[in-house]
Amino acid sequence: MAQAETRHTETAETVEVTIDDEAYEVAEDATVLEAAMEHGIDVPTLCHMEGLENTAACRLCLVETEEGGDPVAACSLPVEDGLTVETDTERLRRSRRNTLELLLSENCVDCLTCEQRGGCELADLAYEYDVDMDQYEGGGGRFEPMTDNPYFQLDHDRCILCGRCVQACDEVRHNSAIGFTGRGMETKVAPPLDRSLTETECKFCGQCVDSCPTGALTAKDRLGAGREEDLETTSTICTYCGVGCRIEFKHTDDEIVDASIVDDPDTAPANGDRMCVKGRFAWDFVNDDERLTQPLIREDGELREASWQEALDYTAERLQEIREEHGADAVAGLASATCTNEENYVYQKFMRAAFGTNNVDHCARLCHASTVAGLGRAFGSGAMTNSNQEIRDADAILITGSNTTEAHPVLGLEVQEAVENGADLILVDPREIEIADDADLHLRQTGGTDIAWVNGMLNVILEEGLVEEEFVAERTENFEALKETVADYPPEKVEEIAGVDAEKLREAARMYAEADRASILYAMGITQHSSGTDNVLALANLAMATGNVGKEAAGVNPLRGQNNVQGACDLGALPDVYPGYQAVDDPEINETFEAHWDADLPEEPGLTITEMIDAARFGTVKGMYVMGENPMVSDPHLRHVEEGLEELEFLVVQDIFVSETAELADVILPAKAFAEKEGTFTNTERRIQPLTKVVDAPGDAKEDWEIVGELAERFDYPMEYDSVHEITDEIAAVTPIYGGIVADRLDEQGLQWPCEDEDDPGTKFLYADEFNRENGLGEFHGVEYLDPDEIPDDEYPFRLSTGRMLYHFHTRTMTGRSRAIMEHVPDPYVELNPEDAEAYDIEDGERIAVASRRGEIEIPAFVTDRVPEGTIFIPFHFAESAANELTNPTLDPKSKIPELKVCAARIEKLD
Ligand code: SF4
Repeated sequence: MAQAETRHTETAETVEVTIDDEAYEVAEDATVLEAAMEHGIDVPTLCHMEGLENTAACRLCLVETEEGGDPVAACSLPVEDGLTVETDTERLRRSRRNTLELLLSENCVDCLTCEQRGGCELADLAYEYDVDMDQYEGGGGRFEPMTDNPYFQLDHDRCILCGRCVQACDEVRHNSAIGFTGRGMETKVAPPLDRSLTETECKFCGQCVDSCPTGALTAKDRLGAGREEDLETTSTICTYCGVGCRIEFKHTDDEIVDASIVDDPDTAPANGDRMCVKGRFAWDFVNDDERLTQPLIREDGELREASWQEALDYTAERLQEIREEHGADAVAGLASATCTNEENYVYQKFMRAAFGTNNVDHCARLCHASTVAGLGRAFGSGAMTNSNQEIRDADAILITGSNTTEAHPVLGLEVQEAVENGADLILVDPREIEIADDADLHLRQTGGTDIAWVNGMLNVILEEGLVEEEFVAERTENFEALKETVADYPPEKVEEIAGVDAEKLREAARMYAEADRASILYAMGITQHSSGTDNVLALANLAMATGNVGKEAAGVNPLRGQNNVQGACDLGALPDVYPGYQAVDDPEINETFEAHWDADLPEEPGLTITEMIDAARFGTVKGMYVMGENPMVSDPHLRHVEEGLEELEFLVVQDIFVSETAELADVILPAKAFAEKEGTFTNTERRIQPLTKVVDAPGDAKEDWEIVGELAERFDYPMEYDSVHEITDEIAAVTPIYGGIVADRLDEQGLQWPCEDEDDPGTKFLYADEFNRENGLGEFHGVEYLDPDEIPDDEYPFRLSTGRMLYHFHTRTMTGRSRAIMEHVPDPYVELNPEDAEAYDIEDGERIAVASRRGEIEIPAFVTDRVPEGTIFIPFHFAESAANELTNPTLDPKSKIPELKVCAARIEKLD
């Protein structure tokens, strides 16, 4: 072999190997296959996949070593200093061709004419090695394809038993929905006992489909959707939850036909090589025939099509009439957690600068307003302190009020990975949710008693000397107030209030406090209470007392629900702050924005969502402009919401479908969906990620910022932008935490705020040196437990809780139009404990009535011990049995979030 030139790899401990006459320094723990791949040397393989254990099943990655003898599988050959291999000899090519011909005699017998060409690794190799399809007799056809789930099919005749799908399910998703069944020629990939996948623990994440190197596992929507080589590939950001997964779409100019994890997981910092069923399969609403394509105006009670000119002129005229007659504050607006940062920025600027009111809010009010208020008071800003991928490195994780594996599935995987790495997991949740299976401790508190158990944990931490004294002394203030408060919460007293075993509470306190890096994950189970802000403050106390803020893999991490709810908050879609949480009632800040925007700006904070609805109901708000929100399903006490919206003199709704709210509108403006536009989303870990346009929008739909801009012109306040990037740059100019986030800098990695200037690389975790409060210290708050506004009584003996589920999202405007999701999970349900079901003589699946002081719905019962006796749970997504007919609009006085998580209810067997 020829003398080789040495190329270097930046690895701490390396060895030198020679591959195809070239010397390389490679990591000493690499295999030859990994070393070759790292240096761009093409060694064929069908069973190897990055992130999965090597199995050497396909025998294609054979290489020859200097010692001679039989070729060896490169994926199971460790590198060693001085090792010399050849990867492309004539002998190896013959062997590979033979292996491929054997494979193709039993599988993919139509390989060279198959539609998957271009997307199938087996077909690519068949062409490359010029296989003879008639070399061996075979034929396949032993098994029926598995088609009995709505999402994908498994065609056994195309399956080469490489095992990547089985490994992906097990190693990446920590699941075992599929495995190998049968023996010898009868071996196949299938669910245990050949059941339907819908009867297994399969979550239809599509990881198996994405790992399949042939056309064996294929999304049903992809079948018959054209040859791979005729399709384009574009990656953008998922429109569903706050994780912010990057997804790769296959598409034509105007239609998406498939989705998958991105080719290079390094370009997807929020999710890597994982996503969930919604991102993977529920994108088809974009192609839906019911998309709004033209503006609509209500005339004589009916909606009729109109031109943009007519619809915008009419909208401006009606809003101006209201302003002239009743003042600017007689109009209120809802921005949107599913619209981009740029659209939210432009929207709130329009409402404030062009229209003249601070009556701007959005659905963060219903999910994390108490986070913004609570963490703002304790730390100085209300956002997740750490990053998605730090969760896996925590030594202890406390999850409370978050059904993580269903509401933030990819973060659920991070938690499971942490547990595999040895982390202790403490779950505090009344329901036996899925992540309970991984928990070391599950405390099932009575709903609405969170301050009691958190104070109880702090009581133990203080009593047992587990406080991180140095951190408390140097980084915080007001610790004495906390000490005084939590002294009143010994575990035995907490047991009486919260129903949590005192000993288990002690154990949880020690587990959390003794960990080097303990992370708190929480969501709406903590925030949606009349004590929501105090609940958040209690968790902040817990983290500060144990020194678990300001360091990696720790922190207090509110998991944001919608894809851009963090961004909508950051960009001022709130009634009291401009972009970057700058107070509207601070005269200096107000003046600065007046100069930025060249407008007179209102100085008083505006109305929140719930206050807008009350004001509409009682006649002080006369007009509303709703961009992409659906309060007719998402807000509490829906009868009251409907009455409020019906009282309005004028309602304009801008959306992609005629939502339940749009059905009440006077004008409906058609907007583009996420896959049709550019701009940025900010995910739950404060990462600003750019979107890429995938397909053309239907009909005359426009980007939300364009619509708002055209409306602004009619208010003599021109807001002309040549492109969305111009808005990104304007945001950077007026929003200090986004100061360095200019369009030119944004690549697929995105940037995490705070990012103050163009040299700032962004911030992975917050408060490393100081908190964001004026004096740089974190502040403890002594918070006392108070009962929820409504607790069960003789008339309403159940505690009703509401929340999310895996398969549907928010008010179902999108997942409700996804074919596969609707085939799989079409109906709502109420979870009911078996003891309660027996007491009321209710069967599983039976339709029952559920009532609260505000309304009544009918809904099928799901009898399960996921809920404790005396508690019922309803996913809030379904308009036809809307949980929010029942929920309590009582507000947390500090953040104005409604108490959606607990109210008193009764159930009734129907005739
Ligand atoms: Fe990722 Fe959330 Fe979308 Fe699922 S819904 S793919 S977890 S962003």
